[in-house]
Amino acid sequence: MLNDPRSHGLWERTAPPAPATGPLEAALRADVAVIGAGFTGLSAALHLAEGGARVAVIEAAEIGFGGSGRNVGLVNAGLWVMPDEVPRALGPVHGERILQLLGEAPRLVFDLVERHAIACEPERAGTLHLAVGATGARELAERARQWQARGAAVELLDADETARRTGTQTYAASLLDHRAGTIQPLGYVRGLARAAVAAGAEVFTGSPVAACEREGERWRLRAGGGSVLADWVVVATNAYTSGPFPEIAGELVRLPYFNIATRPLSSNLARSILPGREGCWDTKDILSSFRLDRENRLVIGSVGALRGTGAAIHRRWARGTLARLFPQLGDVGFEAEWYGWIGMTADAVPRFHRFGPRILSFSGYNGRGIAPGTAFGRALADHILGRVAEGDMPLPLTPVRTRGLRAAREAYYEVGSQIAHLSSRV
Ligand SMILES: Cc1cc2nc3c(=O)[nH]c(=O)nc-3n(C[C@H](O)[C@H](O)[C@H](O)COP(=O)(O)OP(=O)(O)OC[C@H]3O[C@@H](n4cnc5c(N)ncnc54)[C@H](O)[C@@H]3O)c2cc1C
Repeated sequence: MLNDPRSHGLWERTAPPAPATGPLEAALRADVAVIGAGFTGLSAALHLAEGGARVAVIEAAEIGFGGSGRNVGLVNAGLWVMPDEVPRALGPVHGERILQLLGEAPRLVFDLVERHAIACEPERAGTLHLAVGATGARELAERARQWQARGAAVELLDADETARRTGTQTYAASLLDHRAGTIQPLGYVRGLARAAVAAGAEVFTGSPVAACEREGERWRLRAGGGSVLADWVVVATNAYTSGPFPEIAGELVRLPYFNIATRPLSSNLARSILPGREGCWDTKDILSSFRLDRENRLVIGSVGALRGTGAAIHRRWARGTLARLFPQLGDVGFEAEWYGWIGMTADAVPRFHRFGPRILSFSGYNGRGIAPGTAFGRALADHILGRVAEGDMPLPLTPVRTRGLRAAREAYYEVGSQIAHLSSRV
């Protein structure tokens, strides 16, 4: 994307094309202007357009340019935070409400994929959270207990069953989440855009919003040579924020995360690795993830940016890790590599903000944005369409809390991941 092969890597090569869009050049009128064409903005646009609103989505670069087109494709349920900690962080009302919403959010994603026939390689095979050592196993046992107490379809698997499902004996246990699965993320976000356009939304790309000015009771957004005058504004720029709402960026520390994809594996090899096609990630602090795509490419990822000194270190780590986990792969060739930025909040809980009358935003998904972004986008649409009151939204409105030492924290993530990858055994 934008002539950078390391921005969207494999997903760019295998996703169906985006719907035809162009820059905003005229002065438009809309009920709702949405800034950012990722999961959040496009889910909001789709649900708003289906509800009869006139919607204009304005994207700085291309559809899925941010995290939505670069991620691993794990459609997870819930948050990073342990379930019992969520009500402690958000209070009992919002805590239980968001656990319920995000527990069901993968189903929303897969239902949208089905309803709009989105070509994004959906696999509803669950995900495996893999325990590294006894500490990881204890963490997963507690996570399983807390989810099961809420009736969630999760199962704790022992080391043997984990080995049978993954094809490696590396892990002490795993948590199988039947609610979850995998998708081709750029295919999904492009499909959301296509569905939103079919429902009547207008989508403009190559149009960074530079200003948002009050005009009577409305807001005028200016981008390039055009503008949109709207009653409501949805700010869905998250970790890739530029333009008139820099507060969003100021609240997030950006964690770099890369992925490397092998060539398609032979069917014999593929049968020995993830025969059930679950998506996986582990319990380490510098975590790693792996999954298959539809053509049986194995996609392995971890913390780090593929640039500068990091590129060679992370590539070497990926090769060494695959050799240890799956020696049967031999000298498998790599076909694509890419990386992006994950927006992390101080407490790993997403944020709901209002930047002025009828200007709303969700952000800070901490590496869990496919299902939450889709669910929060729908929640924004429901609120704007008058179906859900502000007090019934999934998160409480909170003021922006700017984080200090952001550049230093971001550098710490990268340096920490390089040190971990230089010395890693699993
Ligand atoms: C490498 C990586 C791996 C990940 N893995 C997973 C995973 O496996 N599972 C999961 O659930 N989540 C994962 N995530 C997180 C997930 O991808 C994000 O949380 C999600 O994509 C956020 O969606 P969004 O729509 O809120 O923002 P984004 O997709 O980032 O979209 C924001 C958009 O706003 C645009 N924009 C910014 N400023 C302006 C402006 N001024 N004017 C117009 N447009 C603007 C940007 O160009 C961008 O396209 C991962 C993220 C990364 C980077």
